[in-house]
Amino acid sequence: MKVNYVDIVISAASKKQYPKDPIPEIALAGRSNVGKSSFINKMIQRKNLARTSSKPGKTQTLNFYIINEEFHFVDVPGYGYAKVSKSERAKWGRMMEEYFAEREQLRATALVVDIRHKPTEDDQMMYDYLKHFELPVMVIATKLDKIKKGQRQKQLKTIIQTLEIEDEDNLIPFSAETGEGKDLAWRTMLQYLNG
Ligand code: GDP
Repeated sequence: MKVNYVDIVISAASKKQYPKDPIPEIALAGRSNVGKSSFINKMIQRKNLARTSSKPGKTQTLNFYIINEEFHFVDVPGYGYAKVSKSERAKWGRMMEEYFAEREQLRATALVVDIRHKPTEDDQMMYDYLKHFELPVMVIATKLDKIKKGQRQKQLKTIIQTLEIEDEDNLIPFSAETGEGKDLAWRTMLQYLNG
């Protein structure tokens, strides 16, 4: 997939700011610091367009990127950061509900997890939450370069079993460092976007 054009459309704090264009989109979710921005930047071949927007204290927004004038990537604020207040957590929850429950343009979500670790309870909750809306999920197991080749199958199996990944969903090993998994991630996304 050649990305010729990419730009941020809006950092939306609420529904009324979402782009109205009827073009398909993919949401990107993941625990804070898991490597979500690095995943996005690698996919769109830009060094620093997606920033770690999810750092505590920063305004939580849904960041809409336009890719090749054809579709949107929607960067969802990270979750699972321990030092977030109850009220901020509740706000995050409302923001998720507002987006995932109703967004017609949404075709699938890429859920980024760390291939080195068993998915956390927050990861499990996020996966279940997306499935509750009957959304296709691509699980991106990132930081692939950080484990030995011999560990891959075992780690992938742990992720499948912990999240109880459904048969129709995809699990894609990925590295933002080496670009491994990028072609498969694009092929899978394009199937959802064009399907
Ligand atoms: P975010 O908070 O989920 O957006 O996380 P970032 O994309 O900022 O990544 C968090 C840290 O992990 C940064 O120091 C990245 O350089 C590092 N990182 C992210 N992806 C990879 C990867 O695939 N391989 C390696 N080795 N490091 C990564």
